[in-house]
Amino acid sequence: MNAIRIGRCIYCGRAEGPLRREHMIAAGLNGPWVLQKASCPACEKVTSAFEGHVLGGPFRLARAGLKMHTGHGFPTTAPLLIDRGDGGYVSVEVPVKDYPVLVHFVEFLRPAHLDTRPYAGGIDISGHRMIQVAGPDPKDVGQRLGAKRMRWVATHESHSLPRLIAKIAYTILVADVGLDGIEVAYVLPAILGQSQNIGRWVGCDEMEYITDQTVLHGGRRLYSGRTGAGSGVQDLCLRADLAPS
Ligand SMILES: [Zn+2]
Repeated sequence: MNAIRIGRCIYCGRAEGPLRREHMIAAGLNGPWVLQKASCPACEKVTSAFEGHVLGGPFRLARAGLKMHTGHGFPTTAPLLIDRGDGGYVSVEVPVKDYPVLVHFVEFLRPAHLDTRPYAGGIDISGHRMIQVAGPDPKDVGQRLGAKRMRWVATHESHSLPRLIAKIAYTILVADVGLDGIEVAYVLPAILGQSQNIGRWVGCDEMEYITDQTVLHGGRRLYSGRTGAGSGVQDLCLRADLAPS
């Protein structure tokens, strides 16, 4: 399912006026799946804003290191914070190809809707995880630069990352069952920033990690049915692989 035609804005329902194609996973993350004629300019402005915060922020160096699609070009060098043991951290410019790119992923509590905990809004963070996605071993880099310690700093803007995740899940569902197959899209106000309850719908469930290093993106569907519909897991309904480097 590389391109599916929708003919309405999947966010606000508008059918008149110009409709643009919508990358289910952003083009800047090399997402291969597209919904044609699926987003009006107003909604596109909202979704590209939070995608831009993630792609241009905490994921920027990862995208550069993995040579992902870009419309703006990538830096050829990036600052690395090192401590040589002589009075604190200093910033040194390192070519991106020699840069140990670690991505900071936030771990969230389970979606509040699936949980019994009291929920007042926002999203609850339960942990952090740094994953190296490109570049040489940090130990070798540290040795070469004479660093005793190195530091990676990531800034996440508001709810941009969980909104991006919600958008991906929602567009996968649209591609799967069609807009008419969705009775109420509860997650839409949070995606569009009209409500502050993204943590009700987005979260980490079982802490499973994809250990196959060739996978770039994967989607898995879990469903719990109403009367008679049953429940279960459809394993990895979408998969995109890393381009060989
Ligand atoms: Zn719209």
